[in-house]
Amino acid sequence: MFKPSPVQLVHFQRKKIYVKRDDLLHPQFSGNKARKFYHLLNHPQPGVSTLVGSGSAQANSLYSLAALAQLKQWKCEFYVDHIPSWLKQNPCGNYQAALELGARIIEVSSLHRQQQANLDSFMQTIVKPSLSPQQLFVPEGGRCEYAREGVVTLAEEIEQWQHQNQIGRLNIMLPAGTGTTALFLSEYFSQMNPCIKVYSCACVGDEDYLSLQFTQLNSNTATHPIILPRTKKYHFGKLYREHYQTWLALKQQTKLEFELLYDPIGWQCLMRFLEEQTDETPTLYIHQGGLLGNQSMLPRYKRKYPDLT
Ligand SMILES: *Cc1c(COP(=O)(O)O)cnc(C)c1O
Repeated sequence: MFKPSPVQLVHFQRKKIYVKRDDLLHPQFSGNKARKFYHLLNHPQPGVSTLVGSGSAQANSLYSLAALAQLKQWKCEFYVDHIPSWLKQNPCGNYQAALELGARIIEVSSLHRQQQANLDSFMQTIVKPSLSPQQLFVPEGGRCEYAREGVVTLAEEIEQWQHQNQIGRLNIMLPAGTGTTALFLSEYFSQMNPCIKVYSCACVGDEDYLSLQFTQLNSNTATHPIILPRTKKYHFGKLYREHYQTWLALKQQTKLEFELLYDPIGWQCLMRFLEEQTDETPTLYIHQGGLLGNQSMLPRYKRKYPDLT
């Protein structure tokens, strides 16, 4: 279904790093969520007419599910806690693109006066039990077993590139949300190709939360990615001066645009690791797409830190 995404060598802060360009996988359906939802694209789902998902109104998974639904000629229903009023007034990024693809975005806070503890419990207790057989439920962030297929395809592409370029040992780095992608990659290499080690970092919760997420997907800690620690705690989705500085420096030095939620943390952790690295093992950073989300993040950063360019 996809051609392998290209790999490119970049220089950042005097280090050489390979970048796997999963942001270029497909014009409408790319990056992390495309890998995780690949199974649904690749296999017929008899009787299914609608995808049902949930998450943030600005999430990459909203747009990716809407794009997948269009490719499959399905409908898309996406539950969100709340749509920020600025976003309703000025639709942009993933939210706007999903609306244009015909996604139905359902605000849970407007459905129920008495708010559920959280969106996930609302999905599990109210939405999921009432679905018809035509409606296919997709867990938040694609955190489920079927995500393995697309991630294994990514692992195979990396292995093929490793062999073609006569690379022996290799370190892979990718920032994590649910940790599903990093865990499935690491699991694959620990069994099939132990010359390749997977590194990741926590972006949504803290390091303990990420480690727990790994354990829930695979209790054998020997298959887990190595977690590179952050120097301080960050709240997911909040704006931080150093994140914007990292993003700007990456753009200037690598000429690549990364996304603004996960990649700044990923690169900060990676660069600190490389400063201390004593061997010559090359690094491959996975660019997991998500650039549409920059349309809503970048104006916020520009407003908050007008002195940075
Ligand atoms: C979803 C996403 C992630 C996190 O992926 P997990 O498999 O949940 O860890 C990272 N980067 C981007 C761009 C994403 O869209």
